[in-house]
Amino acid sequence: MTHRAIVIDKNPDYTATLMTLEDDALPEGDVAVDVLASTLNYKDALAITNRSPVVRAFPLTPGIDLVGKVTTSHSSRFKAGDLVLLNGFGVGELYSGGLSEKAVLKSEWLIPLPTKFSAIDAMTIGTAGYTAMLSIIALEQHGIKPESGKILVTGATGGVGSFAVYLLAKLGYHVIAVTGKESAHDYLYALGAKEMIARSELSEPGKPLQKMRWMGAVDTVGSHTLVNVLAGTEYGGCVAACGLAQGYDLPGTVMPFILRNVTLRGIDSVMRPLPDRIEAWDHLAALIQPDALEHIRTLISLDDIIDAAHELIDGKITGRLVVDLSR
Ligand code: NDP
Repeated sequence: MTHRAIVIDKNPDYTATLMTLEDDALPEGDVAVDVLASTLNYKDALAITNRSPVVRAFPLTPGIDLVGKVTTSHSSRFKAGDLVLLNGFGVGELYSGGLSEKAVLKSEWLIPLPTKFSAIDAMTIGTAGYTAMLSIIALEQHGIKPESGKILVTGATGGVGSFAVYLLAKLGYHVIAVTGKESAHDYLYALGAKEMIARSELSEPGKPLQKMRWMGAVDTVGSHTLVNVLAGTEYGGCVAACGLAQGYDLPGTVMPFILRNVTLRGIDSVMRPLPDRIEAWDHLAALIQPDALEHIRTLISLDDIIDAAHELIDGKITGRLVVDLSR
């Protein structure tokens, strides 16, 4: 038996190719799946185009997200026919992932697919929506409620940012969206944002303490933006830091922490334990109507992936690229 998969190799040149492989070439694991859908995330595009050292084992199939139908299972948690969901856990970086018709996985990486979502819906949400949800749960755990104050979202038109705006608005929060795209204001208002701030207002070095304007924030950008977000956070507020679109540096001061009791919460989606993932996906299922996902995705096939990865890196893609393995 054979299957098709994107394969990244370094032999010695770095290559990403759509190949037909023998099933015997699949890695070891206790759950084998037919992949129903995957997503082309920014991280996957970095891996395919070799713009960043995402891949740490060769040869490897990229794809950090997948929904699969179990074909064989040696785990008591899953049986043949179950639909399973995977986000991260080093898949697509250290272990072969979702950009393949078949995958063999470790059961401890998998959660059941929420019944509300089809495979395509779940992959439209993908790591972007799941990370946005983890960030919002962190703010809620800090005690921030809609009546506590406004919530800022940076990188608002990005995958994580768009879901953060949408989900926060659904929960009743007053959302301020930070974006570098003036042309996207209508898109962000439609998602539920109430106010806009230009990206440039926060992206340069600023004062250590600034006018307090928001009680919480989901920051997908890092660097000077995150420092300014902290400096503008109200007394006792919380900032969930999940991204580095501007940079991974944090060129700031401790003043917001020691004078305004501000909390900086780190958000990692990749190695999160299963209970956190199940909680996040339960919340996503409660908040997202599948109809709302239709207009933000473009369906592509395995044949489209290499070209699409270059377009994504070049900033030519709007919305989510969902890989339909039935195509
Ligand atoms: P996207 O590329 O879809 O979005 C990033 C957004 O950031 C852009 O749309 C843009 O929004 C803004 N942006 C881009 N460049 C800059 C810049 N130089 N300065 C300020 N803002 C900028 O990425 P994702 O939404 O998928 O991911 C966002 C970040 O979160 C990434 O850094 C990613 O690596 C990280 N991430 C982290 C995860 C985790 O586990 N912690 C999981 C998933 C993602 P606009 O034009 O609206 O300003």
